[in-house]
Amino acid sequence: MKPSTDIGTDERNARWGQRGTAGATFAGLLEFENVSKAFGRTPAVMDVSLKLHPGEIACLLGPSGCGKTTLLRIAAGIDKPDSGRLLFDGQEMAGPGKFVPPERRNIGLMFQDFALFPHLSILDNVAFGLKNLPRVEARSIALQALERVGLARYAASYPHHLSGGEQQRVALARAVVPRPQVMLMDEPFSGLDQRLRESVRAETLALLRETRASCLLVTHDPVEAMGLADRIFLMRYGRLIQAGTPEDLYRRPVDAAAARFFSDTNEVKGKVVDGVINTPLGVFQAPAGLVAGEAVVMVRPQGITRARHGEGIEGLVTETRFQGDDVRCSVIFNGIDDALTVLVSALNAPAKGQAAWFKIDLQHVFVFESGAAITKS
Ligand code: ATP
Repeated sequence: MKPSTDIGTDERNARWGQRGTAGATFAGLLEFENVSKAFGRTPAVMDVSLKLHPGEIACLLGPSGCGKTTLLRIAAGIDKPDSGRLLFDGQEMAGPGKFVPPERRNIGLMFQDFALFPHLSILDNVAFGLKNLPRVEARSIALQALERVGLARYAASYPHHLSGGEQQRVALARAVVPRPQVMLMDEPFSGLDQRLRESVRAETLALLRETRASCLLVTHDPVEAMGLADRIFLMRYGRLIQAGTPEDLYRRPVDAAAARFFSDTNEVKGKVVDGVINTPLGVFQAPAGLVAGEAVVMVRPQGITRARHGEGIEGLVTETRFQGDDVRCSVIFNGIDDALTVLVSALNAPAKGQAAWFKIDLQHVFVFESGAAITKS
C-alpha cells in the first residue's frame, strides 16, 4: 500500500467498505512450481506444484508433519524453497536467484497462536498493519474492521481482556485490514473449543468472501477443510497427493490412505478375477486396469445400511453405541474375520445380539489394488 498523508473518506471506504462491511480487494493468483524444501536431511516438501486461483479459498490438508506449514511459510516468505519457484500474479517471489521479502508480498498472515501484541490496545493491534497510513486514518479504518467483526466496543481494551474467540476475531480483522491479495492461515481455529470454532469459522469464511482475497488455509481436520474450502490440496509425506473440490476428494479418493483420511472405513481384502472382486459383502468392480491380483474393498460405516429381512446380507450385531442421531454397531458377517462398523439411524437401529439384514450403498465403496504403493519417497 502506498504511503499517503490523507486518504479521505472515499478512499477509506474503498479500502474498508462502506458502513463497516469489508470492501473488495484484487484477489491474487498464487503458484507453486515444483517446490521442494528440506531441513537438514528431513524432506519437508517434495516437488509440489499447485495453483491458488484468485478469490479461491483452498485448504492444505494432511496429517501432522506432511509439510503443510512449510509450504505456507514458503508462500509467506518466512522460508525459502531449496528448488522450484513461487509466483504471485505471474511475478516470481522466490526461485533460483530471486527472493522477495514477506513485507513486499501483499499477503495477510494468521497463524495458530494469533499473537496479538499484549501491550497494544485492540484498536492499535488492528491498526498495526496500516503503518504506512497516518495514525488517525489507520485507527479509523481499524475501527471499521472491528465493527465488522462485532468487537468495536473493545477498541480501547487490551488482548488479555478478551476471550480466545474474540482475540481470534481481532487477529482476523488485523490480517485483512491492509487488504491483502492473498491470506495465509495456519490452523487458525485450532486453539478454540468446538462450539466457538464453528462460529469463528463461519465468521472468517464470510469475511474472506467479502474481501475476495484468495486464501490458503492449513488444517489437519478433513471436516473443517470440507466446510471451508472451494478446493482441497491433500498432502502426505511432503507431496501433493490429490487436489479437487471437497466432493471430489470425499467421493473419489485417489488411494486407500486418502479414503481413510476422510472417514473411518471397513476393509475387506479379496482376489481380483477377470476385473471383479468377490467378497462376502458382494461382487465389486476392480480398479480400471486391474485384471488379476489382490484388492481391498473399503466401505464407510454409513455405506452399510439396514435392509428388509431376507434381502442383502445377514449379520450378527455384537455391539451398539448410541451417538445421538446415529447408532454405531459392530456387526459380524459370515466369511469376514473382524466385526465391521456400521452406522445406522437411531430410529432404525438393531439391538445388541440381534441378527439383522444389511445392504451396501455403492457411493461409499472404494476398491483399490491391495498394497498399492503409499511410500515416503
Ligand atoms: P503439523 O500439522 O504438525 O504442523 P505440517 O504438516 O505443517 O505439520 P511441517 O511443519 O511443514 O508439517 O513439517 C514438515 C516436516 O519438516 C516435518 O518432518 C518437520 O519435523 C520438519 N520441519 C519443519 N520445520 C522444521 C525446522 N525448522 N527444522 C527442522 N525440521 C523441520
